[in-house]
Amino acid sequence: MLRRPQPAASDVPESRQAPWDCDFLREQAYVLLICGALCGSSDNYVLKWGSPEDGLMPGIPSETNLAASPARVLPTAPQAATESYTELLAGEGDKSLANQYMSMLSSEPFKAISMKSAAEMPRQFPKLNISEVDEQVRLLAEKVFAKVLREEDSKDALSLFTVPEDCPIGQKEAKERELQKELAEQKSLETAKRKKSFKMIRSQSLSLQMPTQQDWKGPPTASPAISPATPVLPGATPLPVPAPYAVPEFQRVTISGDYCAGITVEDYEQAAKSLAKALMIREKYARLAYHRFPRTTAQYLGHRRLDTTPLEEGLPEDPYCLENAPPNLGYLVRMQGGILYVYDSKKMLERQEPHSLPYPDLETYTVDMSHILALITDGPTKTYCHRRLNFLESKFSLHEMLNEMSEFKELKSNPHRDFYNVRKVDTHIHAAACMNQKHLLRFIKHTYQTEPDRTVAEKRGRKITLRQVFDSLHMDPYDLTVDSLDVHAGRQTFHRFDKFNSKYNPVGASELRDLYLKTENYLGGEYFARMVKEVARELEESKYQYSEPRLSIYGRSPEEWPGLARWFIQNKVYSPHMRWVIQVPRIYDIFRLKKLLPSFGKMLENIFLPLFEATINPQDHRELHLFLKYVTGFDSVDDESKHSDHMFSDKSPSPDVWTSEQNPPYSYYLYYMYANIMVLNNLRRERGLSTFLFRPHCGEAGSITHLVSAFLTADNISHGLLLKKSPVLQYLYYLAQIPIAMSPLSNNSLFLEYSKNPLREFLHKGLHVSLSTDDPMQFHYTKEALMEEYAIAAQVWKLSTCDLCEIARNSVLQSGLSHQEKQKFLGQNYYKEGPEGNDIRKTNVAQIRMAFRYETLCNELSFLSDAMKSEEITALTN
Ligand SMILES: [Zn+2]
Repeated sequence: MLRRPQPAASDVPESRQAPWDCDFLREQAYVLLICGALCGSSDNYVLKWGSPEDGLMPGIPSETNLAASPARVLPTAPQAATESYTELLAGEGDKSLANQYMSMLSSEPFKAISMKSAAEMPRQFPKLNISEVDEQVRLLAEKVFAKVLREEDSKDALSLFTVPEDCPIGQKEAKERELQKELAEQKSLETAKRKKSFKMIRSQSLSLQMPTQQDWKGPPTASPAISPATPVLPGATPLPVPAPYAVPEFQRVTISGDYCAGITVEDYEQAAKSLAKALMIREKYARLAYHRFPRTTAQYLGHRRLDTTPLEEGLPEDPYCLENAPPNLGYLVRMQGGILYVYDSKKMLERQEPHSLPYPDLETYTVDMSHILALITDGPTKTYCHRRLNFLESKFSLHEMLNEMSEFKELKSNPHRDFYNVRKVDTHIHAAACMNQKHLLRFIKHTYQTEPDRTVAEKRGRKITLRQVFDSLHMDPYDLTVDSLDVHAGRQTFHRFDKFNSKYNPVGASELRDLYLKTENYLGGEYFARMVKEVARELEESKYQYSEPRLSIYGRSPEEWPGLARWFIQNKVYSPHMRWVIQVPRIYDIFRLKKLLPSFGKMLENIFLPLFEATINPQDHRELHLFLKYVTGFDSVDDESKHSDHMFSDKSPSPDVWTSEQNPPYSYYLYYMYANIMVLNNLRRERGLSTFLFRPHCGEAGSITHLVSAFLTADNISHGLLLKKSPVLQYLYYLAQIPIAMSPLSNNSLFLEYSKNPLREFLHKGLHVSLSTDDPMQFHYTKEALMEEYAIAAQVWKLSTCDLCEIARNSVLQSGLSHQEKQKFLGQNYYKEGPEGNDIRKTNVAQIRMAFRYETLCNELSFLSDAMKSEEITALTN
């Protein structure tokens, strides 16, 4: 239903309007009780305020320290397994799984799990005791996992025979079943009552959206909107609260009537609670690793948050200054089961008493992961998420239709700022391909012309000049063209990652790759550094563009880190327009085959031990300590479509005994990278040093379970294409506002045609997407690859200026730029969510758009918080 003129229309609970309410921020030790969100879940979280020193992360204000303490038993009516739950699941094989899930939910009552009290240990990994339910969820998850693996196996063989997902016959049958279910529900007195209560809540909140007398009388000028409404229980007197933000008047899309039409009240409750539970799990992992979690979502989950000033992380005037390294702490580090443990002293090491940091627990992780895995195949949740996502898309279309001109008007009256001079960050780009093909060609020709007789390599003790290199390849650089250079991806690389990887070799010659695109070679990576610096200079000249290039650490030897730091400092690669991310290729199997590594654990140790040492004793690792100031995160890269037969669980061999030549699966890599980054971040935080974000490539191809792993472990992901295939995950990524760096041009050459790319759809629904280039050398034609990416997206999808500026704003938010830089580029209050956090003079994003996004997210989240109040509703219906 559409109304006009109309005040703000969503449902931020009054008590939770945190960002602008200073009073409650002073409240400390506020204990909140959250009910176990998933029916039949074992762990009931009790949440507590942390101190303001906790929870700071790079460029992001503090989040609450969530500590667990003994929980209360909250009974919930067991849910009956119904026929249609199973039918809703896709495919034959799912039936039994869903049945098991349902019977499991109905059989086991809630169990309280006591967790270590917050007073004892301020920041520990909350270990769960494994209950019978968890065990069953885990078994179910394993089956889901196995099924996905089987599908992967048979995909190629069967792809010719698969029926499109939106098969009309199937849809009709599903609708029929829905109808039957609703009819059955209507007959039940109990559910009718419950339904009525939900309706009362929703319509109550709607009544708050009714325009006041003044609104009707006054002229349609920018009148201040009232704040998003609070879902109140009957009896409470609703009072409109003044808006926390000023937004020009616009037309809001609201739905009146049912609590959530289209699914039964039981399904809704179950789905909403499970989703809330999943979000709580993510929040837990995010908090432990100093990753980001949106405060709006946290508020709806019932976690109040503290507003504290983020770290001041001013960069030194001399970016290569090696002085002022903090003193040695004298801690010792040992790897156990693939995770580095820190010990205060030798004595503590002997006693096996590690320094107090949160160390992850694989069993707990497996249980958490199982819950999400079980959730993505749960019928009612799938239906619910699918409907909400459809609604979000339609809602945006309506918003666009009604308010496009008002948004445009806002932008037109915004002085100085336009799409060209808003800040954009290339959030996903590989350093080895950060220059375009023409740039590389020019550089090769230039070096040949200016220094042909320079010694550039050494082979078996024989020094080789640049001229000799080209002579041995039988080529004259003068004749080289971009075509003969052959680094550009094209038709031949589609679904052929192997062919794509070889595109990194100019003229197909790995000698040239070693010489021009590597940091370790006879020249100490000088040519590569020069090219990267030329790219950086172009960014500096363009003034408004930034990038986050990935440099590789392979884990072959612990010497890689000091080598990379030396390369960075000696070649003076620093640029204020670049922040560095370290990519770890998932190629253990190759190193193992070449006998470079004894086990996977050794690889992890080579990757992480030098970082721990540089953190504990920066004095002795000055270069690495300095380099780490400019590193903001870690990436995990490789072809996701090659799959492993191994299923990751707590029964998997630990990394130190993973000695086989088989490559560990994606989720195994992700867990161990996350675990070590988490410990490292906590150690660094304790020292007041910068922390790292985990930003893996995920969901580009391969199994859907990759996105489940990243949901727990990643701060943000690159690609995320496969979210298209799972409504539950897509909706969760929306609710948790997990940033996704998308590269449609790269996908177009590798995995998915441009026209089928979900970026536009994701953007419309409100997922936190940014545009990035991935590999300009392989995919782009112009000098400004990022602008090329924006331009093509704008043309193909007819994106408005506001859309483009929203993507650009997202890119700055999800980047590893410092708090100060973000304040400068987005506005003082950028870390607040909604229109309050937007400074249109800097971002050129219409306040109307910001309000729409914020209120929409609040509305979706209010469905979850309403369901979590269902105990109150039960009380009311009796
Ligand atoms: Zn990439």
